[in-house]
Amino acid sequence: MNSEIPQDAPTLSIVSPMYNEAEGIAEFVKQIHIAVDPLALRWELVLVNDGSRDGTLAAAMGIAASDPCVRVVGFSRNFGHEAASTAGLRYARGAAVVLIDSDLQDPPAVIPDMLAKWRQGYEMVYGVRSKRNEESALKRMTSWSFYRLMRRLAKIDLPKDTGDFRLMDRKVVEAFNAFPERNRFVRGMICWTGFKATGVDFVRAPRFAGKTKYNYLKLLRLAIDSITGFTTAPLKIATWLGVLIFTGALGWIAVVILQYVFWRDYRQPGYTFLAIAILFLGGVQIFLIGMVGEYLARTYEQVQGRPLYIVSDLVNFDDTPAAGGANGGLLKAGKR
Ligand code: UDP
Ligand code: MG
Repeated sequence: MNSEIPQDAPTLSIVSPMYNEAEGIAEFVKQIHIAVDPLALRWELVLVNDGSRDGTLAAAMGIAASDPCVRVVGFSRNFGHEAASTAGLRYARGAAVVLIDSDLQDPPAVIPDMLAKWRQGYEMVYGVRSKRNEESALKRMTSWSFYRLMRRLAKIDLPKDTGDFRLMDRKVVEAFNAFPERNRFVRGMICWTGFKATGVDFVRAPRFAGKTKYNYLKLLRLAIDSITGFTTAPLKIATWLGVLIFTGALGWIAVVILQYVFWRDYRQPGYTFLAIAILFLGGVQIFLIGMVGEYLARTYEQVQGRPLYIVSDLVNFDDTPAAGGANGGLLKAGKR
């Protein structure tokens, strides 16, 4: 694996995926400068344009033309936030790498605090949302249940109230770059590497411009991906549910026999019961078939081995190819 850092590598890389962020991108870059310039270190900002449909790419390229700190990776189409983060981490060269949203919901002002923790020897520094402004009760509740579920089922202790905003040491990035899987739940995968971690509190701001690209359907997709990616527990539901229903049915038969023997005027209940039982079992079966399908789909996609993303534009990247291949091809096992 390509784990060598070039001589002129920056100390800090800031990686930020963008999808339709044209209105806010100039302000974002400005705030990054305000936060990072005083630190007086070599740094780079890797902007990954995830196939935006507005002027994001042009805006980013315009900034990069006059700002050598800014480098742009452009995808040929929208591949999703997780693919964009993955690409950014592969192109980043810094000894420490910060992953941050480009909509200014993650305040760049927190980056120096993260860097300070890194210098103390932490290999991962999470951004911990201390307050959730502007987020609905439903979103807070769903995310709360999600973290609990992940802890219980997947046995990975996702730090509570963290998003993708975090700093990672080079070691963590290298480990992450070596992950071959396609359905990527970036947070979970990084947490799974198990490096020494700590958190830094911040207040998650409302979006600077534009609107969120995550709706509940996408969030549900992410939750399913993360659970199926980290545990096979749902597959085991089938076994236990099967045992439970089977024992229940046996008990019921016993009751009917006893009633028949000891209760003279015993009458069978109507068809309602039967209908309910059929519907119930049908539902359970379909659900479990769906669960199996989830895993099958993952296996299928993995076996297909398509690249995670396709890069169509690169700005300020003349010298450095991405670790792990430019087009997000799967890393091959063994030597490259
Ligand atoms: N994003 C992306 N590709 C997508 C959707 C989003 O690169 O398909 C970027 C987006 O530009 C932003 C970050 O990912 O920088 C988080 O997205 P968003 O703000 O929509 O999510 P939320 O903050 O609501 O969770
Ligand atoms: Mg956002």
